[in-house]
Amino acid sequence: MNYTTTQIATIVKAQKREYQDHIITALLTDSRSLTFPEETLFFALVTERNDGHRYIKELYRKGVRDFVVEHPIPGEEEMEGANFIVVKDTLAALQQLAAAHRRRFNIPVIGVTGSNGKTTVKEWLYQLLQPDYNTVRSPRSYNSQIGVPLSVWQIGPKTEMAIFEAGISQPDEMVHLEEIIKPTLGLITNIGEAHQEGFQTIQQKCLEKLILLKACDCIIYDGDNSLICECVEKLCFGCREIAWSRKDRDKPLYISKITKGNDSTKIDYTYLQYHSSFTIPFVEDASIENAIHCLAVMLYYNRPPEVIAERMARLTPVAMRMEVKEGINNCLIINDSYNSDINSLTIALDFQNRRAAAKGMRRTLILSDIYQTGLPPASLYRKVADIILHKGIERLIGIGPVISDNAYLFNLEKEFYPSTESFLSQFDPADFHNELILIKGAREFHFELISETLELKQHETILEVNLDAIVHNYNLFKSKLHPQTKIICMVKAFGYGAGSYELAKTLQDRGADFLAVAVADEGAELRKAGITMPILVMNPEMSSFRTLFSYYLEPEIYSFELLKAIIAEGEKLGLAGYPVHIKIDSGMHRLGFEEKDMPQVVDMLNDQTVVLARSVFSHFAGSDEPRFDEFSHQQIDTFTRCADYLQQHSKHKILRHILNTAGILRFPEYQMDMVRLGIGLYGVSPIEDSCGIETVSTLKTTILQIKSLPAGETVGYGRKGVLTRDSRIAAIPIGYADGLDRHLSNGKGCVVVNGKRAPIVGNICMDVCMIDVTDIDCQPGDRVEIFGEQLPVTEIAETLGTIPYEILTSVSTRVKRIYYRE
Ligand SMILES: *Cc1c(COP(=O)(O)O)cnc(C)c1O
Repeated sequence: MNYTTTQIATIVKAQKREYQDHIITALLTDSRSLTFPEETLFFALVTERNDGHRYIKELYRKGVRDFVVEHPIPGEEEMEGANFIVVKDTLAALQQLAAAHRRRFNIPVIGVTGSNGKTTVKEWLYQLLQPDYNTVRSPRSYNSQIGVPLSVWQIGPKTEMAIFEAGISQPDEMVHLEEIIKPTLGLITNIGEAHQEGFQTIQQKCLEKLILLKACDCIIYDGDNSLICECVEKLCFGCREIAWSRKDRDKPLYISKITKGNDSTKIDYTYLQYHSSFTIPFVEDASIENAIHCLAVMLYYNRPPEVIAERMARLTPVAMRMEVKEGINNCLIINDSYNSDINSLTIALDFQNRRAAAKGMRRTLILSDIYQTGLPPASLYRKVADIILHKGIERLIGIGPVISDNAYLFNLEKEFYPSTESFLSQFDPADFHNELILIKGAREFHFELISETLELKQHETILEVNLDAIVHNYNLFKSKLHPQTKIICMVKAFGYGAGSYELAKTLQDRGADFLAVAVADEGAELRKAGITMPILVMNPEMSSFRTLFSYYLEPEIYSFELLKAIIAEGEKLGLAGYPVHIKIDSGMHRLGFEEKDMPQVVDMLNDQTVVLARSVFSHFAGSDEPRFDEFSHQQIDTFTRCADYLQQHSKHKILRHILNTAGILRFPEYQMDMVRLGIGLYGVSPIEDSCGIETVSTLKTTILQIKSLPAGETVGYGRKGVLTRDSRIAAIPIGYADGLDRHLSNGKGCVVVNGKRAPIVGNICMDVCMIDVTDIDCQPGDRVEIFGEQLPVTEIAETLGTIPYEILTSVSTRVKRIYYRE
């Protein structure tokens, strides 16, 4: 849905002035998440810790022209073409705009509030309803005064259903969220102690949360929760209510039976005299409660019981769940170091309990200071001590000054440390045996360090990815370009083998402009993982348009068939102005339109409104080799003619790009509007000179076993490795199934052990290979580098007569990727 600058100024009741109107499609409050600068409206929010006005200059440089501000900006006159919409309160303006936007749509909107489970309920409702309705929902847990307006802004003309969560930490906040969300169906999950500081009583908090539900057509809540029932009664909603109960058959939704199995739960219910049941693939009490809330919503929307049962059975867990890993000395580690309020502690302890009971293990809890409760420390930790005792914890390790001060309240085997560092410095592995250890701490305590220490280090082959080097390389290429030139980071083929999600996340935080993947599914995975920046899909398939659209992925269009098909499919869904990228074949002769096709491309584009050419681009056939320079220049000329033609016949600015990594290094004068950075980002220079590019990926393993063998013996399959001297032969757990090319067998390739090269002996096996370490001082357990700093992929590529790209992308997905920053 589009607005002009002037329309927005009117909605937010700004001081009257003249604006140079732009079409605004995106709202921005965090300058790091900028994607479409020309169409972005930035709200300079002022918080206790930050002032958005500080980022205006930088955003202007990146192409943003529209700003909502609270006061004039120094140097405003120099920012030509910029609009400053001046208001008293930028947050209020953001909320007004979202509220006005919401009112334009007459669709069902579900508002979810409560203390725990909001995000899970929202995500599950999405999984349950999306097959029937084109649904938008809050991204992750965007439930705050800022997150809610941004969530609501996503509603568009095609939206048939919206699900938003609303969270508050102080009185008077919910009124604003209610104004913006205007839910037609309201749901309150439960009320717990989290965020209690701002409220005098728990009733007050409950009443405040219920404000979200005040104008709904129907409200859903737990009819067995006396606090919520009391508050609902007090507020006299006067709308339809679906209170569910496990005890009271007269409630609209009666849960007659809950049967827990090993890893699933069957729930029987009666709704309007009708009996039915369904099964969810979860057993925790919290999941059961969340599923019942979702059931009530599905029933309200008249979804048939068999549909409900079928979809409930397929619910998937929402990220941030607890992970269980193998630990040292037969321990199991449950890592839940994301938050630490009493409710989530109870949930985690339940989870631990079930596991411990099943395995007959001792229960240990490592717990940090608990934040976010309104209770005085003594009552808080008395309560915690009580819960811990009830849940059968046998050993407590408390970390933090406050829990240490209250040590006397705990009546079990216990030890306390003032900080995570002091615990780690005194850590002795022998102190832990056959225990199920729950690690539960506030983020600030960095308990992931503890879980890493307790986890079992396996002999394994890993690909270590240095995220700092990625950032270094990104900045290096950025410094070779004009500041306004945009960068598309190629993360196709699983980020050239390095793993696309972590890289995408890192690059998104660094302010990269675009990502490019090969196929739609790769893009969908990134979106699911929370990547919000624009994503190009280089090889979209006809069958993947739905995925493209639902994850807002921007396809490369290289043929008339594809163009026709996407327009037809987009038309069915009523899309308008969907961004696509036009690929020109300027001489590579792989995919793309040829120069002679341009008039017809222009006709087809101008004849419809479904898609819009956001960029036009072409790809070099030999930009890394000087002997092809003349050809590369011809490619540039052909491309330029095609791009000029397209631009002349378009009302919008179309971005152009042709340079890949080698192009950036060798023809920076043709950087145009954007470049496409691939191999250079991953630490490999495509030309002779290393150009300051840092190594990113290291493929590593460890020595399993060493044998001393006399001359004349043979090693491995086919007896190919004939020993010509008395040798020490080491076996390492990496084979061709991990991506170690079998052509490196029999001394053709080598690896690095303790700084020295060890040749590969005999044939490489599927999972193991043997190396000659006769001249190397080493023992089992020592590290082995397959490629990395000491043995560059370029060298291996040369040995094999291939290119580094193939070496990088051949590392099998079964090889664990480990990411680190220095
Ligand atoms: C892979 C790819 C790139 C990146 O190439 P590098 O040589 O890795 O920089 C650029 N453009 C297109 C179309 C690609 O497929």
